Amino acid sequence: MKSILCVGAGLSGAVIARTLAESGHAVTVLEARDHVAGNCHTERCPETGVLVHVYGPHIFHTDDTEVWDYVNRYEIFRPYRNRVKTTVGGRVYALPINLHTINQFFGTAMGPDEAFAFIEAQADTSIVAPQTFEEQALRFVGRDLYEAFFRGYTVKQWGCAPSALPASILRRLPVRFSYDDNYFFHRFQGMPTTGYTAMVRRILDHPGIEVHLESRFSRDMAGNFDHVFYSGPLDAWYDFDMGRLGYRTLDFERFTHGGDYQGCAVMNYPEVDVPFTRITEHRHFAPWEDHALSVCYREYSRACAPADIPYYPIRLVEEKKLLGAYVERADTEVGVTFVGRLGTYRYLDMDVTIREALDTARTFRIHDARGTRM
Ligand code: UDP
Repeated sequence: MKSILCVGAGLSGAVIARTLAESGHAVTVLEARDHVAGNCHTERCPETGVLVHVYGPHIFHTDDTEVWDYVNRYEIFRPYRNRVKTTVGGRVYALPINLHTINQFFGTAMGPDEAFAFIEAQADTSIVAPQTFEEQALRFVGRDLYEAFFRGYTVKQWGCAPSALPASILRRLPVRFSYDDNYFFHRFQGMPTTGYTAMVRRILDHPGIEVHLESRFSRDMAGNFDHVFYSGPLDAWYDFDMGRLGYRTLDFERFTHGGDYQGCAVMNYPEVDVPFTRITEHRHFAPWEDHALSVCYREYSRACAPADIPYYPIRLVEEKKLLGAYVERADTEVGVTFVGRLGTYRYLDMDVTIREALDTARTFRIHDARGTRM
């Protein structure tokens, strides 16, 4: 039996803690905030009774059968399709860009093949291997759709020009020549009936796990444990001694409404003169619940200051250089493994976070069985 410390009670910390506790290890989990589940934390709003995604919308989607089975062991997931809308020029369109969006936007009634040929004619086919967000958009949807739906939103979301961002960010979104307006490609999609926080609490509910909330980690604690799984920010482990990795943080402006405010969970506002990126109406994440009142969040993105909660790793050229330097040091560490979105400074979806946490805990078990150190 080893004594294990998991720093952070988000998905990474919880899944690693559970997997190792089930192998007989004694696990301590330290969480700085007053709740588990990290940024997918959900709580019932006392005023409206609505289950709120406190740090912004989180929709579970995956193609990974093992991960889907895993989350379903700890929570009942209800089928949920993420259907996002966007308001441009005083009109509402469907996202992700699909046949409906194209026909609405261009005032046409094209079928799939016709629309495909039409968009190809608008696209910049001289871009063979798009590297940046902008190139990816110009290559696959053309300038008009890019300007209307992506450019402004992306400038607000990331605080930089889309030509400075990697194409991978836009590849998260499909473009469809059908009326399928499902935001995600994945086979399994759903929403936790009692919320992510309740699910994470159940994952952590094991006699081999001790959870301490509102408990900050400091590096001198590491010596009291055989191994540390650290899901805090990678640069914070090193006291930022080479500089800070850049993040975007979010501010939410909360308001309530009598009845249904916008008729959908997420309405994007891609125009630059609207200061927020989107409005989330949380009741629509649980359409099986009935509420008289509604609670909504206007979402604003900005650069993350030291005291803010980090959300999105920026990963521009400067950050990549600095990240490389921190990763080089991290790779030489024995007795600590850096995990999750903050520990590895990557834009991770929840399913990938769980997959990596399961794999990390299993690798540790193999090392432990062989008597080698990780
Ligand atoms: N995006 C956009 N317009 C939209 C929605 C998304 O330009 O209406 C861009 C934006 O740069 C965003 C990226 O596409 O960061 C990926 O969108 P996604 O919905 O995956 O973002 P997240 O779920 O992380 O908020």
